[in-house]
Amino acid sequence: MKIILYGDPALRRKAQPVERITNDIKQLANGMVRALTLQKGYGLAAPQVAVSQRLVVVDVADHFAIVVNPKIVDASEEKVLGIEGCLSLPGAHAEVWRHQQVCVRGLTLEGAPFEVKADELLARVYQHEIDHLDGVLFIDYLGEAKRLQTLKEYERGLREQEVSA
Ligand code: ZN
Repeated sequence: MKIILYGDPALRRKAQPVERITNDIKQLANGMVRALTLQKGYGLAAPQVAVSQRLVVVDVADHFAIVVNPKIVDASEEKVLGIEGCLSLPGAHAEVWRHQQVCVRGLTLEGAPFEVKADELLARVYQHEIDHLDGVLFIDYLGEAKRLQTLKEYERGLREQEVSA
């Protein structure tokens, strides 16, 4: 399963709710877990593997979850600034403001209700992944100059990968 990169229009599409948790959805989740583990990331959203469905995988410290149709139902007023990156923009990092705490609801892969109250890094990862479901990337929160600088970092990273490949 290939993680698509910035510039691919699939990353900008608003993903559709999962209507039924079919075997295809379970296989998709499995592939996403493998891709995430391989890349040592904190989270992956289905649009990042070019599937326009509302499904995310989150793996932060002792929290591991596959969430179908995740939704932020509550968020703290307090926001915190933290460094963020994205598997679809390898090599690029920037500071982004996020809610310090969020409550996320959705379904497990078995169709049972899922809820997590997340804070700090875990809250950040959920906000980042759920953004992907709406076609939003972390660079969208940056000012123009910072966004261009971050995209330059990303392009430089791609060229380095080509040289070392
Ligand atoms: Zn991302």
